[in-house]
Amino acid sequence: MDYKKYSQILKHVTKPGRYTGGEIGQVIKNKEDIRCRFAFCFPDTYEIGMSNLGVRILYGVLNEMPDVWCERVYAPWTDMAEYMRKHSIPLTAHESGDKVADFDIVGFTLQYELCYTNVLYMLDLAGIPLLASERGEDCPIIIGGGPCTYNAEPVADFFDIFSIGEGEEALPELCRLYIKMKSDGTYTRSKFLYEAATTLEGFYVPSLYKVEYKADGTIKSYIPADEKVPAKIKKRIVDDFDTSYYPTKPVMPFIETVHDRIMLEVYRGCIRGCRFCQAGMVYRPVRDRTVPTLCCQAKELYENTGYDEISLTSLSISDYSDIDELTNTLVEWSDANMVSLSLPSLRVDSFTKELMDKVSSVRTSGLTFAPEAGTQRLRDAINKNVYEEDLMRAVRVAFEAGKNSVKLYFMIGLPTETDEDIIGIAKLAKAVIDEYYKTPNRNKKRPPQVTISVACFVPKPFTPFQWEAQNTREELARKQQLLGDNITDSRIRYTFHDSRTSHIEAVFARGDRRLSAAILEAYRRGSCFDAWDEHFDYDRWLSVFADTGIDVAFYANRELGEDEVLPWDIIDCGVKKEFLLRERRRAYESKPSPNCREGCLGCGANSLGGMRRCCP
Ligand code: SF4
Repeated sequence: MDYKKYSQILKHVTKPGRYTGGEIGQVIKNKEDIRCRFAFCFPDTYEIGMSNLGVRILYGVLNEMPDVWCERVYAPWTDMAEYMRKHSIPLTAHESGDKVADFDIVGFTLQYELCYTNVLYMLDLAGIPLLASERGEDCPIIIGGGPCTYNAEPVADFFDIFSIGEGEEALPELCRLYIKMKSDGTYTRSKFLYEAATTLEGFYVPSLYKVEYKADGTIKSYIPADEKVPAKIKKRIVDDFDTSYYPTKPVMPFIETVHDRIMLEVYRGCIRGCRFCQAGMVYRPVRDRTVPTLCCQAKELYENTGYDEISLTSLSISDYSDIDELTNTLVEWSDANMVSLSLPSLRVDSFTKELMDKVSSVRTSGLTFAPEAGTQRLRDAINKNVYEEDLMRAVRVAFEAGKNSVKLYFMIGLPTETDEDIIGIAKLAKAVIDEYYKTPNRNKKRPPQVTISVACFVPKPFTPFQWEAQNTREELARKQQLLGDNITDSRIRYTFHDSRTSHIEAVFARGDRRLSAAILEAYRRGSCFDAWDEHFDYDRWLSVFADTGIDVAFYANRELGEDEVLPWDIIDCGVKKEFLLRERRRAYESKPSPNCREGCLGCGANSLGGMRRCCP
């Protein structure tokens, strides 16, 4: 890295702290000792990437290996990229300042579909060929991981290999294989990829599978290169979650990041089974960390970071089996150390005065609940398992504690939805306002404020709703208008997501390999940072799809056949298709299902890993 030229440039770009490196907690190693250099790329800005728990964990896990050096790389903002291109400065890693192209393995975490063009943006800035088929022996291995790899087909042409599932144990295995093959002289790119795909569990090498299509455009089959190549790639999960690695010395950012606090991962998976929620399915089975482990990690993180806030993270924190013991134990310590506790994902049916009194984040910040649907019938159909009385009880608790504002999350475009369900959202918000005035010892100084935030449903792989068509944009716009027309109370604020981003997200969420050509073309026409409003260009995407022969309705707005081969059928996430179909049927009967604690529904997730592990 030409630091002199770089430091000059830093004066001219926004947030130069994104590029400096040198933070407390970063890992520096002696290159002499290193046999595998891993560049960990986050395809979005520094302040978002630095807050990603997955990156923190895997950065720590790999750097625990004495002969592996993992370094961080973030997507430079467009002003910096312009300078880099103008001055021929390649993309470099934060720790060493070395060129990403000189690393052995370059990994990308794929957290959301709209980051795909940023993968190409970073490969391009690094001077690495965008297509896997164009990479030579001197090129690093490009690996992808994260939630989007549960359907990685749209970006298959850009990656040499994918890590499916949890990386804590899988990625070190891959690095060890790399080091072994380099040292015993058997390493070539193709041999390494073949070896990884056929000897390590959880690695998907797209180039080892031929995809056949039917005349109607659907997939006929995936053909493995030979009998050793697995027909399906089984996701990896961490065997013993309580004792698994957890970073207690994270890198401390120089600039403000999205989550500037301690994140304690309390458990993985979810017992609920909401039928639209991909995370609730693919992170199964449910695995807890014990209270002693969590308290120990909390204290270590506090000592090493000095942060004054701890966030207990999981998909549904109030479902943690020992939530009372954990919060009681932590509150005693956190109050004594002036550290506040926050519980981000609180379910409305578990919101109590006791919990509110304990948890400062609830006391200090606004209250957010996610009923998701406006009527009980639709909440049952999506298996949300929350009831209007739960919401009224929860807001009453909040109003009695002096709160006057509540934020409610909903989705529109859900399967089986009717106009009555849409109008039901307005009625529910009004009911919360009325509940305020029914609460005798409410805070009378300020009027109540209810904010409704409405997203557009996106059908996701490995959910009971994976076969559902997304509403067309016209239909979503009609429903957004219908809801707006039915909100007549000025104390209700109404915001809704732009259906254009949800539309593109749906195309990629259910896309196949033929979409790679469109992503490449969109990048070439200037698409990047698509997750940012100021950069997202819907019309450009539509013209790219038209020019590359992609029928967006085929991917987003078409009901998929239940016997159709789906792009993600190449992956085994543990949850079985039969279970998803059973849950789909129950949705159409507006029937909720019990959660895992009320009885196992046999989703199949407990087949993962040796020992029987769930039924929490
Ligand atoms: S196997 Fe049963 S208990 Fe385990 S996650 Fe699936 S449904 Fe729940």
